[in-house]
Amino acid sequence: MSKWVTGKIIKNKFWTNSLFSLIIKAPIKTFIAGQYAKLSLKINGERIQRAYSYVNPPSSNNLEFYFVIIPNGKLSSNLAKLQYGDRLQITYEANGSFILKEIPKCQNLWMLSTGTAIGPFLSILQDGNDLVRFKNIILLHAVRHQKDLVFLPLMNKLKQNLEGKLHIVTVVSREVCKNSLHGRIPSLIKNSELENTVGIQLSSKTCHVMLCGNPEMVKNTRELLENNYNMKKHFRGNQGNISNEQYW
Ligand SMILES: Cc1cc2nc3c(=O)[nH]c(=O)nc-3n(C[C@H](O)[C@H](O)[C@H](O)COP(=O)(O)OP(=O)(O)OC[C@H]3O[C@@H](n4cnc5c(N)ncnc54)[C@H](O)[C@@H]3O)c2cc1C
Repeated sequence: MSKWVTGKIIKNKFWTNSLFSLIIKAPIKTFIAGQYAKLSLKINGERIQRAYSYVNPPSSNNLEFYFVIIPNGKLSSNLAKLQYGDRLQITYEANGSFILKEIPKCQNLWMLSTGTAIGPFLSILQDGNDLVRFKNIILLHAVRHQKDLVFLPLMNKLKQNLEGKLHIVTVVSREVCKNSLHGRIPSLIKNSELENTVGIQLSSKTCHVMLCGNPEMVKNTRELLENNYNMKKHFRGNQGNISNEQYW
């Protein structure tokens, strides 16, 4: 059984009509960058809990989570209403193995995310531990509209800090934008647009790919990498090139 503690809302920051971040103070056990907590609220007498990835690095005093409001979603629509001083429940211990310690030795680490699933990668990159072992890290954020690229300033700052190691790619699926690729992740791999943009080849000999977010993206990308790039899912004790976390 999970142990729960009370978290206090420090800030509810709305980025767009449907995307927001909660900054929370809570006495949790230190987590590992890439992990998630469970958040919970009592709604109409019923306790509702869901998993959410930490966006902040473990060293931060405040905790940050990044959400999309799901129309008629039980928890996300209620989390969106929280204001300074409100309280929620959060698991004392984090969960998840979508962390760098589980990534085998490789030259190039691809971090491919959709929507709110940029979170664990931002936590890992802000943490900064264990990044020296990669020659290149490619952080890809795929969204529907350009306005959804809310963490681009932070991504660019991380790129500057990592001095040539971090490559940033943004993908917008529902409009054509100047500095972003257009389409879906599997198609952009299939037509080599992603590799050509970054200037690095996807290869089972040199690369590991972390996939996070939309289950359809995870499934289709994984199948493509398995079928066309000779990659396979990574397990502890059975080394592969693909690690993934699905949000639903
Ligand atoms: C390991 C893990 C980490 C997660 N981290 C985050 C996070 O950092 N931020 C976040 O917003 N969600 C995250 N989720 C999803 C989250 O747990 C909830 O499913 C989501 O907030 C919807 O809950 P709800 O009660 O509002 O909607 P529900 O009534 O439970 O509706 C669920 C439906 O919402 C859709 N959905 C769920 N999550 C998303 C999403 N992120 N983007 C688009 N559509 C979605 C799917 O269609 C799903 O079937 C994570 C899930 C997992 C398993």
